[in-house]
Amino acid sequence: MASAFENKILEMRDKHEISLDLLTYILKESTEDERKFLCEKAQEVSQKIFGKSVYLRGLIEFTNYCKNDCYYCGIRCSNKNASRYRLSEEEILSCCEKGAELGFKTFVLQGGEDPYYNDDRICAIVRAIKEAHPDCAVTLSIGEKSYESYQRYFEAGADRYLLRHETANEEHYAMLHPKNLSGAHRKQCLRDLKKIGYQVGCGIMLGTPGQTVAHIYEDIQFMQELQPHMIGIGPFIAHKDTPFKDQPSGSAEETILLLAILRLLFPKVLLPATTALGTADAFGREKGILAGANVIMPNLSPSNVRDKYLLYDGKICTGEEAAECNACLRARMKKIGYTVVDSRGDHPDFA
Ligand code: SAM
Repeated sequence: MASAFENKILEMRDKHEISLDLLTYILKESTEDERKFLCEKAQEVSQKIFGKSVYLRGLIEFTNYCKNDCYYCGIRCSNKNASRYRLSEEEILSCCEKGAELGFKTFVLQGGEDPYYNDDRICAIVRAIKEAHPDCAVTLSIGEKSYESYQRYFEAGADRYLLRHETANEEHYAMLHPKNLSGAHRKQCLRDLKKIGYQVGCGIMLGTPGQTVAHIYEDIQFMQELQPHMIGIGPFIAHKDTPFKDQPSGSAEETILLLAILRLLFPKVLLPATTALGTADAFGREKGILAGANVIMPNLSPSNVRDKYLLYDGKICTGEEAAECNACLRARMKKIGYTVVDSRGDHPDFA
């Protein structure tokens, strides 16, 4: 007979709802066996929709200049120790070329909020990638912009946009960011992106200073309202040159449990097992996939800039070439019985 806990998990799976009490219990009090049950159910849901396939996203970290000063981030503008770089359009295209040869069908352009890349430049880069690789999706992750800018990137061919909301709670947002940034504006950006027609990803870091389970519950409520196509979850990891340098890192285990919960609440969502998770736990990405995640994001950035895009200390894969990263992750997935598929990996509603 199913235990009371198991029944609650099955009810969450069937109704796509969770209470604050259950969330607290899972993250803070559940037993090994209960965690195992939750992850198995999440994996079942993921396999029912996506099979044992894992989608690849080629991450191109094209600038580490940033005008923002987020307290947690290693590339914040006031970190004078960061060695800054920008990739040219040619360099970005060459990363895509390499990625295409390795079988990638999605390129994620991520960077700090760098005014050098104005709308004309971003649109030109997106157009050039789509022209060279018409079968590939382009994802942008370049922060908060105006509705008009988002519209222009979309018309230039961008398919998806990642913008973690970081925390849905305004007071908590103010603990993590300077006064010129607001959670309300970030949420509005996500609504704008969705309205324009992007596949949209929001998300949070687990274990940021001041975060409570009630905050995570608010995050889930915001996600239920937004209904994102992707959710990016990774542990917070301190960076030595930030105000949070002495803060403890987020837990890989709680991140994995949250991935499983999100898979049950949002069955069709694209859920990456992130590099931060792989940094916090050497097998974090594998454990993430086994808890319902279905996306991995190997790094395609040129090896000479990788150790400069340091959002947090100890980031893995900074010494590797794109081909090594790709081969390593494919082998890791194979080892746990999953196959990396060479498809665009759109959200099922867009496929
Ligand atoms: N500028 C864009 C933006 O604001 O969305 C994209 C780049 S930003 C560096 C990408 C993500 O890195 C953030 O949304 C944040 O969640 C994550 N990040 C930053 N610092 C981190 C840290 N110390 N530990 C873990 N993740 C971090």
